[in-house]
Order: sequence, then C-alpha cells, then structure tokens
Amino acid sequence: MNNEIYDTVIIGSGPAGLTAAIYNIRSALKTIVIAGNQPGGQLTITTGVDNFPGFPNGIGGVKLMMDMQSQVKNLGGEIRQGLVSKVHKVDKVFKVELNDGNILETKAVIVATGAGARWLGLPKEKELIGHGISGCATCDGMFFKDKIVAVIGGGDVACEDADFLTKFATKVYMVVRRDVLRAQVPQQKLVVDNPKIEFVWNSEVIGINPPRSPFDKGEDKLFAIKVKNNITQEEKTLELDGMFVAIGRIPATDFVKGLVELKEAGQIIVGKNPEYLSMASVPGIFAAGDCVDDVYRQGIIAAGDGAKAGLDAERWIREQE
Ligand code: NAP
Repeated sequence: MNNEIYDTVIIGSGPAGLTAAIYNIRSALKTIVIAGNQPGGQLTITTGVDNFPGFPNGIGGVKLMMDMQSQVKNLGGEIRQGLVSKVHKVDKVFKVELNDGNILETKAVIVATGAGARWLGLPKEKELIGHGISGCATCDGMFFKDKIVAVIGGGDVACEDADFLTKFATKVYMVVRRDVLRAQVPQQKLVVDNPKIEFVWNSEVIGINPPRSPFDKGEDKLFAIKVKNNITQEEKTLELDGMFVAIGRIPATDFVKGLVELKEAGQIIVGKNPEYLSMASVPGIFAAGDCVDDVYRQGIIAAGDGAKAGLDAERWIREQE
C-alpha cells in the first residue's frame, strides 16, 4: 500500500463490495477493498447457492466468493485484510481509519459492510456463544453430532439451518414465533415433513438455562431453553445441547453513525439524489448491499447494487475533477 490518495476505498468484501471493485478497477480508478472480519461476507457461511445466475448446478458460497476475490485480484485490484473504525470528511477528501491505526485517504468511499447476526437479547445468551449457542449452523453444526438442537426463527436462514443440522443432530426443534414460516417456498420444503424436525409454533424463547433448583447456579454450557406459547401463554422447557439463532441480521454501520443518515434499524439511507441513486446523505459516500437493503437481502441484489455504487462513484469523481 502506498500513501497516494485512492479514488475509491471500498469497505466490505461481500458481493456488493467486490462487484463495486470490479467496476472501479476496470474504469482505471485507484481502488482498494478493505475485507472486514469475514472476508467474502455472509455467502461464505451458507452452503450451496442455487439462485446466483450463471451456475447451472449451483455453487458453494465460499467458492463463489473466492472466485469473486480472484476476479478482483486478476484485474489488478488491491484487497486488504482489516476493519474500518471510522470515516471522516476533511475538506475534499475522506480519511478512512483502520483498526491497525493506518489511515487511507480517498476521493470517494463505498460502504458495503453487509449485516451481522441478530441475537435474542436474553440473559446468558452472549456468555454461551460458542458453548452451545451459535449464529452459524454451517460453521458449528458438526459439533452437534447425535445431539438435540433448536433453531430459532422461521425465515430462509432458519429453514436452511434446520435442514443442515439434521445431518448431525438426532432432533431439531424449530421455534417459530408465529404459526407460519416467513421462508420462501423452496426453503419451507426443506423442513416441512422432515421427520427429524419438530416445530414449536407460536413460541418465543424466554429463558436460557432456566434454574433446575433454587440452588442451581447454571452451567457454562447450554442445557435447556424455556419457551412460551404466545397464544396459550403456556411455558415449557426444552432440554437440548445447541441453539442456533436465525432471526435476521443487523446492518454493520456503527462506524458511519453520525456521518451519514441511517434508518432507525441502522441501514444507510440512499436514493435521495436522483443523479446518484447509491449515494448516501454525504456526497462522495456510496453504499450497497445488506448495509442498505432491508428488503431483498440477496447476493445477486447486493452484486447489482455494488455495480451501481461503482458506476455512481466513478461518475461522481469524474464530475468533481
Ligand atoms: P428473515 O427473513 O428476516 O426472517 C427472520 C425470522 O426470524 C422470521 O421468521 C421472524 O419472525 C423471526 N424473528 C425475528 N425476530 C425474532 C425474535 N426476536 N424472536 C423470534 N423470532 C424472531 O431473516 P433471514 O432468515 O436471516 O433471511 C434474511 C434474508 O436473506 C431474507 O431476505 C431471505 O430471503 C434471504 N435469504 C435468502 C436465501 C436464498 O434465497 N437461498 C437464503 C438465506 C437467506 P416473523 O416472520 O414473525 O417476523
């Protein structure tokens, strides 16, 4: 890395960030991608990807993202490991501060940081992550061979997780807060009629490792969850070894709080400037992918939005010159 000013610093290396990079590099912009703490993004923790066009037999999530990274590198792009802690605007340039203390100067910034796991927010949850509680079935499922687990949520991720976990676990509870799944039909088909999956409908988790006696001080690993039926108010305890929380994602936008306008749930607001639909509230900052989109949240949409952000940033930089 040299100290010359960049044209674009792209923060995030999922489909949005890497596609933006492909466009910027091909337009001869001096571009760097900061890969973040999960290089390749959320697709690297899914199993097969069947809905990204161009792969007649589907493709593994890790393979898809490694190929996108190689495409960026083969075009001459720079990808750097690291996390961004802050972005400041100083006169006409942006200063992008990295966790390792380095500061990059750039004419434009593309934020493509995606989203991270949303947790239930219950006591003991955080302490037991890695000790029976997980936000990633594909990462941790193999540790639950012949065990009993629960998946919390009824979306696509919950269904894919539950299906995946049946490869290891003897039984998988799916705790769903309504009496329907939010998941798309293909994902629903993975779980309905699966003999290893038991649905716990209309129910929410209200406790983790509930005390077994007044003297119980709990354990340092998960042994049970308490669920409550929202209709009947009935409470019951499910004894199990693992709980996979799959209740959606939170956009990774803390580092731009106070700099650009965010929605209440944290997504970056774009689209107010009809000339540059991917521009955030500060000219020169563009955003794409799940850090913006709380509706579609698909790899292909992130890639398309990344292309838009790359094109918008290029046009904006040229117009400033
Ligand atoms: P999601 O679609 O937002 O579903 C979240 C699920 O968790 C819903 O069932 C929701 O219930 C439930 N939930 C939310 N907060 C809860 C709480 N506090 N307690 C209990 N349950 C709670 O999230 P996702 O499954 O992570 O999927 C994210 C996006 O990625 C979606 O757009 C999805 O289509 C996409 N995706 C696509 C694919 C694919 O196409 N292959 C694969 C994975 C993900 P309610 O329904 O009651 O709100």
